[in-house]
Amino acid sequence: MNYQGKVFRPPSEASSLIIQCTIGCSHNKCSFCSMYKEDQFRIRPLNEILADLDSMSIYANVYKRVFLGDGDALIMSMDDLKTILKKISSSFPANKRTGIYASPKSLATKTVDQLKELKELGLGIIYLGMESGSDLILKKVNKGASAQEILDQAKKVKEAGILLSVTMISGLGGQELSHEHAVESAKLINQMEPHYLGLLTLMQEPGTELDLEIKRGDFLPLTPLQVLEETKLFVCQVEAKGITFRSNHASNYLGLAGILDQDKDKIIATINHYLIDSHPNLRKEAYRSL
Ligand code: SF4
Repeated sequence: MNYQGKVFRPPSEASSLIIQCTIGCSHNKCSFCSMYKEDQFRIRPLNEILADLDSMSIYANVYKRVFLGDGDALIMSMDDLKTILKKISSSFPANKRTGIYASPKSLATKTVDQLKELKELGLGIIYLGMESGSDLILKKVNKGASAQEILDQAKKVKEAGILLSVTMISGLGGQELSHEHAVESAKLINQMEPHYLGLLTLMQEPGTELDLEIKRGDFLPLTPLQVLEETKLFVCQVEAKGITFRSNHASNYLGLAGILDQDKDKIIATINHYLIDSHPNLRKEAYRSL
């Protein structure tokens, strides 16, 4: 196995066989993201990817999941993706689901029928970074897609029968746009109705454009307390049914989990518990930075 640079994967793919199909991210312009800043984006030659799969086939009965990285691996051609999925199917009989990172840009290169073809060959889940439902914030962070464009592409995934897992970033609008971020993101999620929603918290990554904005005083990050207030407002506004919600990333101040509509009261009660009563350290830290 021949990994290049840093390798990232969603938390739910922790036990998966990770196959690097691309190096870096084809967009690589989001102001907050440092993930692939050192990597010049490129698609790996198919023979290298197949060689990686061959080299790991001695563990064929171990892996129950395979994940195709790096960022935006769905940008590959249909021919290459089909060859890779067929190879996984023949070499890893225990594999139950293959996942992939996608972006609005890479999804736009595939039709619903093509996504259906990939599903038939074993593609079971697509991870899409939504980040925010606010066009203003998406533009500010240079996401490269509007809320409507993200929605249009996300709908194609669901229409193809593939599980859709999206991520949103708490605090992405800073103090200035926190309310807009919560309300507009809830609106987008209500329209999109993804199967899974993962909430991360904005981190100040050295060397990013956002890092410079914070240092210049042009972006005021949320305090931990404000992050929880924003999360509460967002959860209150979501009405879509059956979305499995997680905020279990290392960046999150508080682990939350549940089905958003069914467990809304429980999630809000958990947030309130930390906001009001029982987390003096968090409150102290939050107030100190206010
Ligand atoms: S699309 Fe994702 S991986 Fe690429 S720069 Fe933006 S946040 Fe980072």
